[in-house]
Amino acid sequence: MTAYWCELAWLGGERAEAGVLIDVEDGLIVGVTGGAPAPPAGAVRLDGVTIPGLANAHSHAFQRALRGRTQQGAGSFWTWREQMYRLADRLDPESYLALARATYAEMALAGITCAGEFHYVHHGPGGTPYQDPNEMGRALIAAAHEAGVRITLIDACYLHGGIGEPPGGTQERFSDGSVERWVERVEGLRDDDSVRIGAAVHSMRAVDPESAAAVAGWAGQGGRPLHAHVSEQLVENEACVEAYGRTPTVLLADAGGLEGSFTAVHATHLDDADVRLLGDAGACCCVCPTTERDLADGIGAMRRLVDAGASLSLGSDSHAVIDPFEEARAVELDERLASAERGRHGAAELLRAATEGGHACLGWSDAGRIEPAARADLVTVSLDSVRLAGTAPETAVESLVFAATAPDVRSVIVDGREVVSEGRHVSIDVTRELHQAVLRVLA
Ligand SMILES: [Zn+2]
Repeated sequence: MTAYWCELAWLGGERAEAGVLIDVEDGLIVGVTGGAPAPPAGAVRLDGVTIPGLANAHSHAFQRALRGRTQQGAGSFWTWREQMYRLADRLDPESYLALARATYAEMALAGITCAGEFHYVHHGPGGTPYQDPNEMGRALIAAAHEAGVRITLIDACYLHGGIGEPPGGTQERFSDGSVERWVERVEGLRDDDSVRIGAAVHSMRAVDPESAAAVAGWAGQGGRPLHAHVSEQLVENEACVEAYGRTPTVLLADAGGLEGSFTAVHATHLDDADVRLLGDAGACCCVCPTTERDLADGIGAMRRLVDAGASLSLGSDSHAVIDPFEEARAVELDERLASAERGRHGAAELLRAATEGGHACLGWSDAGRIEPAARADLVTVSLDSVRLAGTAPETAVESLVFAATAPDVRSVIVDGREVVSEGRHVSIDVTRELHQAVLRVLA
C-alpha cells in the first residue's frame, strides 16, 4: 500500500480540503482521510492541489499535427476540413502510433488520465483494409498504453461523404462500406483493464438513419458508450432538415441513439426541442471550446442543457491546444461573452465535467473521483507558478479552473502508477517525440 499526503485535495465539493491522506493499493483508492496537518512517516508528499484524473472525452489524435498550421488566411470549418483530410491521407499505422503516443503523452503532462479517441481513419489509401482491419485502432490503443493513460476507443461508423453521397477521396479511408461491415470489424476489438471500446455515429452527414440505428443497437446491447458529432455547424442542421425534415438530434433520438449512454459532441446549434430531448435522456454533452473557437463553430448553450438534465464533459478535439483547465474555463467564459452574464457555471461544476463527467461518458464509472474503491488517478497542480502564486485554500478550486494551465501540473498518477513526476513524463521525452512525429507525418 502507498500513502499519499495532499497539502490540499479536491474531493468533489465546492472547496478543496487541507491535509488529506489517500491510501492506494493495487491501483485503487482504499482510504481517504481528512484533517492530517502533516504527512505521516512513509507517506508520499503532494504539495499543491490534488484533483482526480482529468478525462479528455473527445480526441482525434492525428490532428495534433495541424497545430499552428491552419491559421493563415480566410476560411471556415470546411476549408479547415480540406487541410485535415490532406493530413489524414498521410497516416499509416506506424506513423500514427508515433504521433498518437506523443500526443497522449502531452495529454498526460496536462493531467489527463484517460483519452476518448473518436477514431475514424480506419483503412489504407483508397479504403483498402489493412491485413488486420483494426490495425489503426490497435495503434491508438498501443499509443495510449505506452503513454501511460487509459483509452476509450470510440470507433466511428462513417459511410457517406454527405447525405446521400458516397464517400470520396480521403473519406474512403473512413468507410467500412456498410454498417454490417463496421459491426464485423469492431467485434474484433477487446476491452481490458485500461481499454474500453465504444461506438460512434460520426455524424448524421456521414451515417444514414437506418445505419445509425444499427450502431446504436450494437452499443446498447453491449452497454457501450455511444458518441456522435451533433450540430457543430449550422450547415449540418440545414442539410438534415432538408433531407429528412428533422434535426440531427431528433434523427438520433428516432434511431434509438439516446436510449443508452449517449454523448453529443459539440451540441452547439440546438433548438429548444433538441435541448429537451438531450436533457430528458440525461445525455452527456461534450464541449470542446478551444477547437470550437478555432473552427469558428459558435458558442453552445451549455447552461440551458444542464438545466434541462444533460451532463457535461470536455474534449480537446483537434488539439489546437491541450489544456483541460483552458477547456473548463472556456465553457463559462464563452457563455459570458454570449450572454453578458457571469457565474453561469461554477468552478466545481466545471471541474466535475473535466473529471467525473468525462470518465462517465467514456465508460469509466469507477474513475474521476477521489473516494474509496475508485481508480487511483491523482493529479497534483503546483501552486508555486506565477499564475497560481497567492492562491487561497478557500478559493483554490476557482484558481485552478480560472487561472491554472497545463504546465502547472507537477505529478500524475494513473491507476496507482506514476506517469508524470516533477512535471516530466517518466518514460517519454514528449517534446522530442512530438517534434519528430509531427514532422514525419508532414514530410
Ligand atoms: Zn471531433
